[in-house]
Amino acid sequence: MIISKIINVIKQIKIKELGVKIESCHLCQWRLQIKIHNDEMGVRCTRCFATPVSQSLGLAFKKHFNTSTKTVYELSSRGSFVRFLKKLNVKLVLSEYFDAVENGVTHKGILCQNVEKLTFIDNSFDICTCLEVFEHVENDIQGFREVYRVLNKEGVLLFTVPIDLNSVTIERTKVVHGQRKNTLEPEYHSDNIRGTSKVFCYRNYGYDIVERLKQVGFKECEIYTPPKSSLFGFGRPIIIAKKG
Ligand SMILES: [Zn+2]
Repeated sequence: MIISKIINVIKQIKIKELGVKIESCHLCQWRLQIKIHNDEMGVRCTRCFATPVSQSLGLAFKKHFNTSTKTVYELSSRGSFVRFLKKLNVKLVLSEYFDAVENGVTHKGILCQNVEKLTFIDNSFDICTCLEVFEHVENDIQGFREVYRVLNKEGVLLFTVPIDLNSVTIERTKVVHGQRKNTLEPEYHSDNIRGTSKVFCYRNYGYDIVERLKQVGFKECEIYTPPKSSLFGFGRPIIIAKKG
């Protein structure tokens, strides 16, 4: 696994864009970051392989994690951010969404959850996190509503989506009678756990994502942007929504 990852990294190196930087990883604290090419996915922690996306989420998470944090729900089951969460002294719930598995059922040791209809009772978690999920959720407002419901009174949702802070949100499709009618060229993203590069992207988010969160009841919403000096300038904005 590690060897195949290293070979994959070597294949992607662009010598002229190569860079190294002494900067603590926001997940594992290792003090060496590498840039193998000039974009977000070209930057990694050299120990845990965390991208700027998961490291930025880690940075924001640590600002909201405190002694009263007892329960954390993350909408994935593996990767550097999950490994980081597993080291915390909290009750951690992980899940994935699988088309063919009944909602709420554990499949091959992984809990299946559809964020549009979570099976958890109200007020279950102090913090909910996810990386690059909501752009793939057909009814994201319903997903935000469900996360709001399962968060405790003072609960916080922290997450990433691909986002353009200079634009409003652009819906790429309309769903009419259960059928997608694409208004823009279909966009797909890759998904390692399903071994596919074909996960449909419903929308491209903009700065108004905070209005969607307020719409379902979140009281305070903000977009945190990591400092430009960090992660070769590839830190990712983190959306933070507080229930109480
Ligand atoms: Zn790391």
